[in-house]
Amino acid sequence: MSNTVKAIRIDAVGGPGQMRLVDVPVGAPGPGELRIRHHACGINYIDVYHRNGMYPLPLPAGIGMEGAGVVEAIGAGVEHLAVGDRVAYAGQPPGSYSQARVMPAKTVVQLPDAIDFETGAAMMLKGLTVQYLLRQTLPQAGLERGDFVLWHAAAGGVGLIACQWAKALGLQLIGTAGSDEKCALARAHGAAHTINYRSEDFVARVREITGGAGVKVVYDSVGKDTFERSLDCLRPFGLLASYGSASGPAAPLNIGLLAAKGSLYVTRPTLFTHIATRERTQAMADDLFAIVQSGAVKIPVERRYALADAAQAHEDLEARLTVGCSVLIP
Ligand code: NDP
Repeated sequence: MSNTVKAIRIDAVGGPGQMRLVDVPVGAPGPGELRIRHHACGINYIDVYHRNGMYPLPLPAGIGMEGAGVVEAIGAGVEHLAVGDRVAYAGQPPGSYSQARVMPAKTVVQLPDAIDFETGAAMMLKGLTVQYLLRQTLPQAGLERGDFVLWHAAAGGVGLIACQWAKALGLQLIGTAGSDEKCALARAHGAAHTINYRSEDFVARVREITGGAGVKVVYDSVGKDTFERSLDCLRPFGLLASYGSASGPAAPLNIGLLAAKGSLYVTRPTLFTHIATRERTQAMADDLFAIVQSGAVKIPVERRYALADAAQAHEDLEARLTVGCSVLIP
């Protein structure tokens, strides 16, 4: 068992070039921790926020919140896993862009034998996000089969999983995306309607598609470029789930707008509240694994990069060149 592994580190925040492939020591896991040997690492937009400083990290820092591999060592008090288990996780702290790492065990779960490592690495952070956005926000928002929802960036990693899961739940997902090709991909994954928001006015198109009524829920991960107009897509009492900022942070909200636009609700949720305990993480992962194993949701791993090419992966993600999920192979 090697004590030195290759890993991505940043010493300062900035562009993709801040990520350096270095040799780092990996020790034995402490209480509540495990050591995992990664077979694949998921790439997520949150990794960009960590790298560019939008979500500040103590430096120097590792990058990456999602991975899959095999348990190499177990710390005291970890009872739900054993050495040799195939596992996957979405979890803190960042550091999955590595050949191996030590991390808290509570967000690590067993990966079913039928799910390969690349799929496992791609599906945890993005799939658990769709799980809580659809399955836990759904009752809050009073969503029922046949209802319309609007999902921005529908051809992305989270987006293509959402298109499929929403269809399985009987929802009519209206997806936005940045090109006609991306729109076609979202429809092929179950979006009922799509809007190219670079060439079309998405508010007008949502009104047209819904017969003027608007949608019950908007899922907005784009932020600055879409937030306020997303409110205009809601029907009275509708809910805006603002869960990301790919175009930059949304402007501060004048809360009076929520009254003016029809007694609206706004939430700013994060996955990390939802997976704060091992029990919740396991329950959400079981739900995700079940829908993937049923075949209703297929995890679209579209790009694979070597660990040394992490900077290229970030350039492609930020340039909006990717669709679906991308993974690093360590
Ligand atoms: P994606 O694969 O969806 O990539 C981001 C997409 O955002 C791009 O492909 C692009 O699609 C769209 N986009 C719109 N404007 C911009 C812009 N100015 N710059 C770059 N991209 C832009 O990433 P992920 O699937 O990893 O994540 C999707 C979103 O979900 C992110 O905002 C992320 O932060 C958020 N998220 C939030 C979580 C939470 O719990 N709150 C958890 C997980 C993810 P297009 O070209 O079609 O517009």
